[in-house]
Amino acid sequence: MVKNIAVIRGDGIGPEIVNEALRVLNKVAELYGHTFNYTDVYMGGCAIDKFGDPLPEEELKKCTDSDSVLLGAVGGDKWNNIEGSKRPEKGLLRLRAGMGVYSNNRPAKIWPQLSDASPLKKSIVENGIDFIIVRELIGGIYFGEHKTEGDVATDVLTYSEAEIERIGRIGFETALKRNKKLCSVEKSNVLDSSRLWKKVMHKLSAEYPDVELTDMLVDNCAMQIVKNPAQFDVIVTENMFGDILSDEASQITGSIGMIPSSSLGATTCGLYEPIHGSAPDIAGKDVANPVGTILSAAMMLRFSFDMGREADAIEKAVGAYLDAGYRTADILSEGMTLVGCKKCGELICDYLKKE
Ligand code: NAD
Repeated sequence: MVKNIAVIRGDGIGPEIVNEALRVLNKVAELYGHTFNYTDVYMGGCAIDKFGDPLPEEELKKCTDSDSVLLGAVGGDKWNNIEGSKRPEKGLLRLRAGMGVYSNNRPAKIWPQLSDASPLKKSIVENGIDFIIVRELIGGIYFGEHKTEGDVATDVLTYSEAEIERIGRIGFETALKRNKKLCSVEKSNVLDSSRLWKKVMHKLSAEYPDVELTDMLVDNCAMQIVKNPAQFDVIVTENMFGDILSDEASQITGSIGMIPSSSLGATTCGLYEPIHGSAPDIAGKDVANPVGTILSAAMMLRFSFDMGREADAIEKAVGAYLDAGYRTADILSEGMTLVGCKKCGELICDYLKKE
């Protein structure tokens, strides 16, 4: 198969981790006889430096014209004092909206080899951590009006029934393919948008009688994720709550550097990225963990290119790499072998075999 992939390296550790994901994709292409064509796209701080804009129209078009997009991360201190609408993160919001990818899927799963890296007690980890957060990605407070007038700042949070329904369906469909438990997370004791969220989710549940729907307030959910993560199968929630909860969920699995994500809308052209940021504190040192990006590439193969076998092969190779005792600094524990970002990518390629 021939596939055209838009590649956004971005800022900070972005170029380092994306290079390793491309190394793995190239190995997949070689083993399975595919051709992956890459188009470089500038977004974030590097695009501000080059064009004075975090995502110019022509760069966005390269993404919407592609079969899918692989992204590292954007942002950094250098661009922190730029006015809101020109910041690197604005490029990311524009990209997600421009691609219409309203559903962000973030798995929180602990690799058995990394149970020691979780900050949770062994007794909690042993019960299992394996759930997915389905986060609404192109609505809510991040996309409402933002303004500052004198000493008052305002951010507007809006959701329509249609926006809630389309992400709610993804939540139910995801639960149907798993253990059929869906937890809808909101703040309906305070927010009107959350009361609408809850109403729509319950209306939808009539269409999915096999899925058990529960409701949880977001503050309680933040607590339950560390107290008893085994209770969750699929969590569906709005944009900002999902952003925060998924970072929390990633940490209990060991490291934010291990977690991939997929974002999809009405077409198969998806956006694939690790859930972490550009980690300026470790950029350029060859110490970043590229596994979240490599697993994001595997998700791209599975969800956008219908290459399930190839995705399985990447995940198996990551398992074999961990089994052999290799660890980047963020997940290093006693007796394990420390490797850098590049070596990690090379080793995963060595373990990659045609299934
Ligand atoms: P971050 O996720 O970049 O880093 C948080 C911590 O995790 C840091 O200590 C970092 O070293 C560590 N870390 C992150 N990824 C890692 C990896 N792959 N391997 C090892 N350690 C890793 O969050 P932050 O420091 O709050 O943000 C830094 C910049 O990234 C900011 O400019 C922020 O706006 C931006 N950001 C971008 C995205 C994105 O592009 N999707 C997401 C979040 C934050």
